[in-house]
Amino acid sequence: MPKNLFDNRDCKVHLSRISAEPPAGMTRAKAEKRFGTLGDEMFELQDALWGAKVHSVLVVLQGRDSAGKDGTIKHVAGCLNPRGVSVVSFGVPTTEEREHDFLWRVHRHAPRRGEFAIFNRSHYEDVLVVRVHDLAPKKTWKERYGHIRDFEELLAEHGTIVLKYFLHITKDEQEKRLLEREKDTSTAWKLNPNDWKERDYWDEYTAAYEDAISKTAAPHAPWLIVPANAKWYRNLLVAESIVAALRDHRRNWEKTLDDMGRAGRAGLDAYRAELKARKNGGRRRG
Ligand code: ADP
Repeated sequence: MPKNLFDNRDCKVHLSRISAEPPAGMTRAKAEKRFGTLGDEMFELQDALWGAKVHSVLVVLQGRDSAGKDGTIKHVAGCLNPRGVSVVSFGVPTTEEREHDFLWRVHRHAPRRGEFAIFNRSHYEDVLVVRVHDLAPKKTWKERYGHIRDFEELLAEHGTIVLKYFLHITKDEQEKRLLEREKDTSTAWKLNPNDWKERDYWDEYTAAYEDAISKTAAPHAPWLIVPANAKWYRNLLVAESIVAALRDHRRNWEKTLDDMGRAGRAGLDAYRAELKARKNGGRRRG
């Protein structure tokens, strides 16, 4: 199990103790080669997921501004058949959303069996930005950890494979990325003064993330803290963990597909036998 995988509530997360850099010995060339192989496997596994319709997959992407949520979606979703993937971004809640409980807007986008849903931000914003900026009373956001645990348990009981990622970058890397955006005319459209304002709350976000991860980590809804200073390593790690989670179910899906194939063939045989009997009966009458 990777050391930055959190799958139970007893481990307290300390982000400052987790490196945001790729491990020594890992190179971009190696990572990209491996990513290509994993991409092919992910595509195949998705086909089995789609056909068997036993499970669904929910990928939750969280991270600070410029941590690479969009880039991860582009690369990872790029390995999948678009037929079975939805990508949903959660921004500031609308009036209608605010007038419901905080999970209302999220639950309706939970994936159907056979499908993937990738969340760009998620219900976790309600214990992150909401906590950091006092957008709800402390009692309210504190109660949400329990609601989130119950919600994710419900999804898992319904066959959803819940995978949660925190894209971990350093404050220096964030500054570098934000400055690069300014210089590059092709990415300047992403500029948002709010990203700079939010940097002033770096430590508050760190505390909020550490609590969110520690309090909601579960075997059926693990968190992976992804060293994300290098985009190519980030993509590799996310792909690797999705493939590993799906592989666990491969046999089950293949068995379901075999059974479906057998049932389909039996149905077709019965249909053909009936046609033949009808034809023979007609001939005899004639
Ligand atoms: P992104 O930064 O993800 O590329 P946006 O620029 O649209 O996309 O930002 C979305 C904003 O919505 C973020 O600042 C985020 O904190 C905010 N947001 C998301 N969910 C909530 C929420 N439940 N309450 C308040 N703000 C939220």
